[in-house]
Amino acid sequence: MGEFDLIERFFKRPTHNAVLGVGDDCALLQPSPGTQFAISCDMLVEGRHFLSTVDPFKLGHKALAVNLSDLAACGAKPLAFTLALALPRADEAWLAPFSQGLFELADLHGCELVGGDTTQGPLNICITVFGEVPVLAGRSQALLRSGATAGDDLYVSGTLGDARLALEVFRGTVSLPAPVFEAARLRMEQPTPRVALGLALRGIATAAIDVSDGLLGDLGHILNQSVVGATVNTDIAMTLVAAYTYYTVAGGQFGTNIPAAQWRSWALAGGDDYELLFSAPVAQRAAVAAAAQASQTPVTRIGGIDAEPGLRLVDNQGQAVPSTYTSFDHFA
Ligand code: ADP
Ligand code: MG
Repeated sequence: MGEFDLIERFFKRPTHNAVLGVGDDCALLQPSPGTQFAISCDMLVEGRHFLSTVDPFKLGHKALAVNLSDLAACGAKPLAFTLALALPRADEAWLAPFSQGLFELADLHGCELVGGDTTQGPLNICITVFGEVPVLAGRSQALLRSGATAGDDLYVSGTLGDARLALEVFRGTVSLPAPVFEAARLRMEQPTPRVALGLALRGIATAAIDVSDGLLGDLGHILNQSVVGATVNTDIAMTLVAAYTYYTVAGGQFGTNIPAAQWRSWALAGGDDYELLFSAPVAQRAAVAAAAQASQTPVTRIGGIDAEPGLRLVDNQGQAVPSTYTSFDHFA
């Protein structure tokens, strides 16, 4: 199978959003009147972002999911994506499930593959997504990292830390009962991009980011760009680790005892969560609840934005919790 057969067989499909898809030197996209393109690119490198043993179907899902998550964080509606792929060999048994996993998620979000590049080399997947956000009365409706204001509530969607927990099981540092591990593994291998929530939060959230490097690290980006501080309740954050719920139901017995500080650290600095972290005015609490309901996405208030710079961690009693968490940095 040559390069062009490979593209034809696994990646060429009819387009609806795009004027022109795969097959020419460029794809053509027509922005709808009164909208802007939101564009984001994420690369997945074997050994760095995924294990070499991962199921290609799940990898296809994850490669697009992490990109859709960036559109979600901006409140952008997915339109199209490109796929740059380096492959060690043209292996049908890998390409078929990879493209199925990719297109299954793409179809779910009406996001179509419009072009890419294919080359021989160490496995590397780079996707660029294109979405759109409306411009109303000259103002972009995109959710940005820079709009958080003192007094705002701070929220996070879904669950935290389970992807990291699954990684620790693979690394052999933790063991979990099989059903708990399977649930955590799903979070690591097939994260759910919170696209519907991002769209529902337009005009409500003041700032948003998707949690990829760890909650506190990504919160740091909002705080820097908004020039504010924040207080986070770590007792609430810890309960968002889905496995922690099982752990407490099991009476704190997973064979081994896992200390509270460990659960806290997975919640606050685990990474690979692909949840939305966002701020919204107190007056918008009902609107946030309605957005969560409409998008069928759980949302939890975990703290608030402060005028005083810096990040403060507190427990349910309001007592300070020491902070020693670092977020993921490829070159640190
Ligand atoms: P060029 O020579 O202009 O780089 P290519 O020969 O690499 O074009 O690609 C031919 C067509 O196939 C282009 O439309 C390109 O966008 C598309 N394409 C290449 N690789 C992929 C891929 N992995 N997924 C989707 N489209 C692809
Ligand atoms: Mg090319």
